[in-house]
Amino acid sequence: MKKRKKASLTLEAAMILPVYMAALLALVSLLLMNLTAMRIQADLLNMSEELAVSLADGCHISVGQIEDRLKDMLTDEDLKFIDKGKDGIDMSGSVIREGEYINLHLSCDLVPLTGFFGILRVPFSRGCLTHIWCGYEKPYFPDEEIVYITNDSEVYHRDRECSHIRLTVRATSPDEVTYLRNRSGGRYRPCSLCHSRLSDGRLYVAVEGDRYHNTLTCSGLKRTVRAVRISQVTDRRPCSRCGR
Ligand SMILES: [Zn+2]
Ligand SMILES: [Zn+2]
Repeated sequence: MKKRKKASLTLEAAMILPVYMAALLALVSLLLMNLTAMRIQADLLNMSEELAVSLADGCHISVGQIEDRLKDMLTDEDLKFIDKGKDGIDMSGSVIREGEYINLHLSCDLVPLTGFFGILRVPFSRGCLTHIWCGYEKPYFPDEEIVYITNDSEVYHRDRECSHIRLTVRATSPDEVTYLRNRSGGRYRPCSLCHSRLSDGRLYVAVEGDRYHNTLTCSGLKRTVRAVRISQVTDRRPCSRCGR
């Protein structure tokens, strides 16, 4: 009797173990696939930032060249999780507007483990929008402090990186924009500069602004920052965040 019980336990273990191992393998494989997705996204971001600087220097690059460069950045380990490897990556939806912005778009199918779970395919797509670097050099006045001003405000900033200078732009849709609120809780109204321009269906708003724009390149979405000597801004008050 005792012997039979022991035997059935061994039999159960022998049946459960493979199922358990398969489940564990599936879980590990899904986690690794997610890591690959995160690395692709990081590569896309790094590349976009690098291009924003090199394109400002007058370099020219095609979408095809960008795609080749991104494929080279991926490790063999990552390519295992991409359906058809390098051939499965498509970046043809990317747009480069020289002097303005780079909108990278990548899509592919991710597979948890080639061969083993080949039947499961997860469509993956990521976009990354970066303004081309517009240059900034601090003027040199050894005897006087330099501060930063914008035309749309009455303050000056001691810190060039002050968050009150920066414009946070986000893409939205005509449906969403009606209930979206800006930083001061106000609604967005159409921009008079670009409302008649052709739209691709997307709208753009700045968290700090009160207009929505049809195009990302509208001058109403830009903020010009000037560096001036502090003696030139006697009519302005210091910024509440960085003015001390
Ligand atoms: Zn400030
Ligand atoms: Zn506009």
